[in-house]
Amino acid sequence: MTRFDKLLKTIKKNNPNSDLDMVRLAYDFAKKAHQGQKRMSGEPYIYHSLATAQTLAEIKTDIATIIAGILHDVPEDTDVKLEEIKKNFGGEIEKLVEGITKLGKVKYRGIDRYVENLKKMFIAAAQDPRVMVIKFADRLHNLKTLNYLPEHKQKRIVEETLKIYAPIAGLLGVWRLRWQLEDLCFKYLDNKNYKKLKEKYEIKQQKERTRLINKVKKIISKETKKDNIEYEINGRFKHLYSIWQKMQNKQKKFNEIYDVFAMRILVNSISDCYKMLGVIHTLWKPKKGRFKDFISTPKPNGYRALHTTVFGPEKKLIEFQIRTKQMHEEAIFGIASHWRYKNPTQPYSKWMDDVLRIQRNAKNSKDYMKKLKFDIFNDRIFVFTPKGDVVDLPIGATPVDFAYQVHTEIGNKCVNAIVNEKIERLDTKLKNGDLVEIITEKNRKGPNIDWLKFVKTSIAKNNIKKYAKNQGIFSTLISKIKH
Ligand code: MN
Repeated sequence: MTRFDKLLKTIKKNNPNSDLDMVRLAYDFAKKAHQGQKRMSGEPYIYHSLATAQTLAEIKTDIATIIAGILHDVPEDTDVKLEEIKKNFGGEIEKLVEGITKLGKVKYRGIDRYVENLKKMFIAAAQDPRVMVIKFADRLHNLKTLNYLPEHKQKRIVEETLKIYAPIAGLLGVWRLRWQLEDLCFKYLDNKNYKKLKEKYEIKQQKERTRLINKVKKIISKETKKDNIEYEINGRFKHLYSIWQKMQNKQKKFNEIYDVFAMRILVNSISDCYKMLGVIHTLWKPKKGRFKDFISTPKPNGYRALHTTVFGPEKKLIEFQIRTKQMHEEAIFGIASHWRYKNPTQPYSKWMDDVLRIQRNAKNSKDYMKKLKFDIFNDRIFVFTPKGDVVDLPIGATPVDFAYQVHTEIGNKCVNAIVNEKIERLDTKLKNGDLVEIITEKNRKGPNIDWLKFVKTSIAKNNIKKYAKNQGIFSTLISKIKH
């Protein structure tokens, strides 16, 4: 089966009613655009586009997101322009691809800028979180092929992923991608321990786990027959990076923390969750203090399930997580699942609002998130410098505001602005995501007092007034301007 056939198959399974012709068109379009381009691995570039789309199809995003995944590197890396994408695939997909292209300009440059960039990416996400999800899928494939890059680049990408991408994936609740991103990074971060844990949890325990699951299944199925509960039971996926982190924090041998078998039971309704819990507690003795009801009291991030640890068959400790299929999808696909279960026409900012409302209740980031919400929903825009830094400004801000935000001298000496590669007037109102470059003139003495008529930020206003005052022209001219 070709990579593209595999993608179609996944889409058919997860998105049965979607327009496959559109997907085929996107594939042909991207293949043609990337014709002749190769990845560092030597593979055709289109493999990367397909891998990105494949991840998106697997986490059940909507079809527009998958198509944007196929097209995501077209404007950045080929001669084909965004307008072409709009013409062929419509405005929604164009906007998603545009969002990705812009996010590509946010760069991680050291811990100092981390929080700032995090915030900015969050703002990007608030406009349409699907953009972020595509970015995670893109990053996932880049990490899978990281061994083809030079070491210093590997290091930067790993750091950037652990400090920016993975936490945001967590905030957005896209846990499956968060775990995958982290485990891939872990491999490069501490290869020795990665191999050790992988061997222990994925290879050695495999057989033992399968045996135990089968035994548990048999016992439960006998017990549930009379209650008529439909369910699925699986051994749980181990997230190696989090085991490693716990090992570091607690300085314990991982035997002590993690030699508990974890199983997940999916049922159809909330009442079945509690019925199943009753079944398990009847069969095996629960371990004290380990029962948690996150259905009646969800976790701050919205997570819902029943957790309990019991002394199972052969006196082995088993942790069960019981939840409905919908809770399960919410837990691993995060916001992606909301597109399926909530009203699909609901604006994305509303979901983001939900995410933020939840985050607001989280202990440590309370104030941060509050501020974030304020920034997102109250008149802020963000624009890019040519180097990829993000500057946030009030709505209606102009290149002069931008210039002063970057540096007072740049503000004082600016003469022109290049916005999205076009020369624009200094009083142009900037839009979200604009790429702004300021042209300065070394010999320029200072700002033009007329700028006070249009600047929006106090930093620009104060600097212009200060200059004018020093020049003694302030008092005569200021009366003309209502400020
Ligand atoms: Mn890419």
